[in-house]
Amino acid sequence: MIIPIFLTHLGCRDRCIYCDQGCITSQNDIDIRRLIEQSLQHKEGLYEIGLFGGNIFGLSPEYLKRLFGHFEDYRDKITNFRISTKPVPLNEELIAILKEHRVTVIELGIPSFNDHILGMLNRKHTARDLVRAYHALKERGFQIALQFMVGLPDETFDDIRETVENMTGLNPHYIRIYPLAILSGTPLCGLYEEKGFIPVAFNEVLERALYIYLNALQLKIKVVKMGLTDNEVLKERIVAGYYHPAFGYLVRSHGFYRAILAVAGRASMSGKATVVLNKKDIPHLLGHRRDNMKGFEEHGLAVSWETGEMPPGTFQLVSGSTRAGGTILDALPSFYK
Ligand code: SF4
Repeated sequence: MIIPIFLTHLGCRDRCIYCDQGCITSQNDIDIRRLIEQSLQHKEGLYEIGLFGGNIFGLSPEYLKRLFGHFEDYRDKITNFRISTKPVPLNEELIAILKEHRVTVIELGIPSFNDHILGMLNRKHTARDLVRAYHALKERGFQIALQFMVGLPDETFDDIRETVENMTGLNPHYIRIYPLAILSGTPLCGLYEEKGFIPVAFNEVLERALYIYLNALQLKIKVVKMGLTDNEVLKERIVAGYYHPAFGYLVRSHGFYRAILAVAGRASMSGKATVVLNKKDIPHLLGHRRDNMKGFEEHGLAVSWETGEMPPGTFQLVSGSTRAGGTILDALPSFYK
């Protein structure tokens, strides 16, 4: 079990233009000791602690030691820690403290590998800083995960390809994919209101997330999260962007849609077709508000379904005497056409 503790903006020496964690975490509690007590005092058994939010690497070594000191009363129950942070500043003393306090997983935030975009977001680091931190931390025995974003200002599909190339080269322990949300009161919101940032269509951002997701799947890199969950964002602060309560589902169902069309095209199927699939994948087949079914019809496929003993994410497509097998990964080649 992982117990998440959100350290709102702790260690953030600069503010990324899209971020306001007072909102993202639904917490304004700056009394960290009290926050830790509230989170842990009634917990039984062994658990892992996730220190999320903020920028742990931005803390002084003294502060970081004090932070771990707050967990002393729970020491016997804590198996290990995982933290999330920007990749800078990288500091040997800090790394040694993380090791000493049983941090095993480090999630590095890298919204984009395009330095122009990183600059625009006021991240105050480059893609090279990320790569340097990644290798340095890996050499010290940490498991490294990466947090990507989609839908950023000036982002194109080529930037997403670059993200995937870097993911392939780095081979992280797991990834998260966050769609951009424009929150009122942030510099990004100002940019948006002055028309300095015109967001692309929601579907375009779904495709970008899908491309990363499918590549991760192919590389057997776990995608632990796509989207912001309800308790991470106060909806009334969202002005625009790509927040959706079921963002991950939308991405997967779009993948399913593209995969079925690809397999049907390969097998030259048209007219009536039955998809045999795992029952968990029925919502992926149907799509949000049955959008996928409407899309199949537009492509000349009248799709029905049957459940079968299929692993999730796989299917058989049957039309007359033709039968073709597929998986959600069959959606991937359509990105290269
Ligand atoms: S995105 Fe992370 S590093 Fe940037 S301001 Fe927010 S918490 Fe700090």
